[in-house]
Amino acid sequence: MGNSFYRDTWAEIDLDAIYSNVKSMKNHIGENTQLIAVVKANAYGHGDKEVAKAALEAGAGMLAVAFLDEAIVLRDAGFEAPILVMGASRPEDVQIAVDQDIILTAPSFEWLTEAEKYVHKGTLSVHLKVDTGMGRLGVRSEEEIQQAFKFAEGNPSVKIEGIFTHFATADELDTAYFNKQYAAFTSMAQVAAQYDGVMIHCGNSATGLRFPEKLVHAVRLGISMYGLSPSIEIKPELPYELKEAFSLHSKLVHVKKISKGEKVSYGATYTAEEDEWIGTIPIGYADGWVRRLRESDVLIDGERMPIVGRVCMDQCMIKLSSYKEIGTKVTLIGRQKDECISVDEVAERLETINYEVPCTITLRVPRMFL
Ligand code: PLP
Repeated sequence: MGNSFYRDTWAEIDLDAIYSNVKSMKNHIGENTQLIAVVKANAYGHGDKEVAKAALEAGAGMLAVAFLDEAIVLRDAGFEAPILVMGASRPEDVQIAVDQDIILTAPSFEWLTEAEKYVHKGTLSVHLKVDTGMGRLGVRSEEEIQQAFKFAEGNPSVKIEGIFTHFATADELDTAYFNKQYAAFTSMAQVAAQYDGVMIHCGNSATGLRFPEKLVHAVRLGISMYGLSPSIEIKPELPYELKEAFSLHSKLVHVKKISKGEKVSYGATYTAEEDEWIGTIPIGYADGWVRRLRESDVLIDGERMPIVGRVCMDQCMIKLSSYKEIGTKVTLIGRQKDECISVDEVAERLETINYEVPCTITLRVPRMFL
């Protein structure tokens, strides 16, 4: 999306922050470990093409998405880097992946044999997923891995280029379950290690940050590429500073003084306790600024002020500390002067994780790339 739009609400994406977060992880894991930039879900709401470009410039060697559609968007945009689809694809669609040089995930041996039937021309590249305890996708035994490699051996239609697993608790201080999964993967991946050139990977951001020595060949970097900690509990022990890339802004489009006792918004649930300045901003739940964010703070001139009354579909109201001019900038996520509203703060108010916050700011909110 270009930087021209006609509404006073926008998200700013700091691509220098993305670049710097990728560089920091690269330095942390060393030059022998590859970095796969995870840009699924429109790069966690940040903008897939722009983030992919910044990540590749910073040294990522591969991109990863959840769905074939997301990979096709990147190919159509001209990206030539290897792209891994980490979710399950329909076997009948695999020829599209072959034609577009997209690597798919094989979530089971059965899927591989089914998918092979739909390869009419060329070779389907896959990474074999191993379920070591996430319980989502993947083969569950060494025998199944063995079967998959035997099936692919000498078969011109399929090539197993990689093998990977995903940890369920890499972001938790208690490492017992993580260690169990890691041990299972180490033993299961040995089958793959007998074959030349198979890329072995297991780690997300949390694993890369905390256990770089356990990554084997690559890290799949998502949340910390966006400058966010994989969890609150490991935040105090991060090995380097993360730079938050996402911020959200609006402007006052209407300002008025209301008298003590007057009401604001649907349900007339907010009553002015005194004569108050009320500002309206053009963002609401249809933008992902959901109704639960009622009473959360925004920043104006570096000062916190609360949202009052119910959040509407396209607008919400703020109790201003004093008169402010129409057009004054309002920051919902991000920094103004010495004050900052972090993605983590919004996530806490929503009783969710930071991953969900930029993902749920809808495409109606234009992204500006800095
Ligand atoms: N690998 C897989 C299979 C994933 O599903 C994800 C994200 O959900 C990632 C890597 C990236 O994880 P993170 O964002 O925690 O770095």
